[in-house]
Parts: sequence; C-alpha cells; structure tokens
Amino acid sequence: MDRRGGEEPVIVALDGPAASGKSTVGLAVARSLKFNFVETGKLYRALALKALREGLALDDGPALARLFGGTRVTYEFRGGKAVVEVDGEDVAAELARAEVAEAASAISAIGEVREVLLPLQRALARAPGVVVEGRDIGSVVFPNATYKFYLDASVAERARRRARDFAAAGQNVDIGEVERGLAARDERDAAREAAPLRRAEDAVYVDTTDVAFDEVVSFIVNYVRNAEEARAER
Ligand code: C5P
Repeated sequence: MDRRGGEEPVIVALDGPAASGKSTVGLAVARSLKFNFVETGKLYRALALKALREGLALDDGPALARLFGGTRVTYEFRGGKAVVEVDGEDVAAELARAEVAEAASAISAIGEVREVLLPLQRALARAPGVVVEGRDIGSVVFPNATYKFYLDASVAERARRRARDFAAAGQNVDIGEVERGLAARDERDAAREAAPLRRAEDAVYVDTTDVAFDEVVSFIVNYVRNAEEARAER
C-alpha cells in the first residue's frame, strides 16, 4: 500500500469523543494495514503531566505555552505500543491516570497549547501510512487526510466500555460517575473555541454503539483497502 512511490504517506484520520473506541480500533486498523499508529491524546496527556508536575495553573495559556515550548515530547510506536517521552523520561505508564486525563482536557482547550503540538503531530505522518486518532485530526491537523472516520457511540455505552477498562485494570468505579465525567469532558472538548471536537464534513460517520469492535475494524480496513486498490488502478 505504497501507491505514491513511498513518498507521501496514506493518512487515516480517526476522530470522535472519549471512549468511542478510537484507540482500540485504531491500533487494530494500523496493525492490519501495517501502518504507524499515533494516539494524539497521549501528547496532550504528556504535556498535562508536565504542567501538573510543575504546579502550573491549567488555564494560564502564556505560562503553559512557555513551559511547553521548552519541553521535548517524543512519540514512537514501537512493538505495538506507544512510547512517549517527556524530556527523555518514559512517561507512558503515567498517562492513563484520571487526573492526567482531566488536566489534558483542560490544557487542550488553549489555542497556544494546541499550536505547540501541531508540528509534532504532522511530523509523525510517515510512509507508507499512519492511523492518527484524536479530536481534530480530520478537521485541523490533517485536513487533507486520505481517509477520515468519525467514531461515535452513546454516552451510556462509552461509560460501560470505560468502566470495563478500569475493571480490567483492577479499579472499581461507579458507572454513573464515569458517565458524568465523560459527558463533561465531551462538553468541554466540543464547546471550546480552539479546534473543538466536531465531525469533519467529509468524514465517514461510524456509530459503534451496537457494533462489535471487530466489525468496526474490518469496515475501516476494507474501506481503505478497496479505495487504495481503486486508486492504484487509475
Ligand atoms: O484521547 P484522550 O482521552 O487520550 O485525550 C485526552 C484529552 O486530550 C481529551 O479529553 C481532549 O481534550 C484532548 N485531545 C484534544 N485533541 C486531540 C486529542 C486529545 O483536544 N487531538
């Protein structure tokens, strides 16, 4: 799947609200297509972790931009896992913390913060292709992405999935609380001025509420494969 002579990567943009299945689906799609996989939320989480450690106010745009301007974040997809480093320290294990997710949501509402991450995200698109998941991938980061999908699911179903993830990690959570947390985060992501969560007009909408994970994966993989074959024949 290297139709442009190995020069321009095929970009599969995967956007949607929290816990809509983007990470799980994106990983499986990337594996199947033998593409690189980028979870952009991890970049926001990495910066949020740094801000928490430095004790910065999470709404102080100029101070955050200054701090992040001098912070080196690297992302590499290695052995089927994201390796995220902040100033040379592997922080991947810390990024799943609820406190970090909350802080990521807060700082990601700030335009200056988003600007810091733009070049980093764009530099991760490499041939033959990449699956990039986030909130604004098809709308802002890669508006010319080769393929765009918007994954969605009801908030109740997303809360069930998230609670299942917590349970698998040995954490007992109240599902009502998880649902309220998700709804609040969606609201903030959608209402912000800077790159709000929204479906790009040309994105394929995939409602995953009642659809098995495997089916979502094969739908996307087949969609991309068929379209790539059609392009190669042209
Ligand atoms: O996807 P994940 O839950 O890891 O993202 C953490 C937070 O980072 C989200 O709640 C969202 O506010 C923010 N984010 C964003 N744009 C992206 C990816 C994540 O604003 N492309």
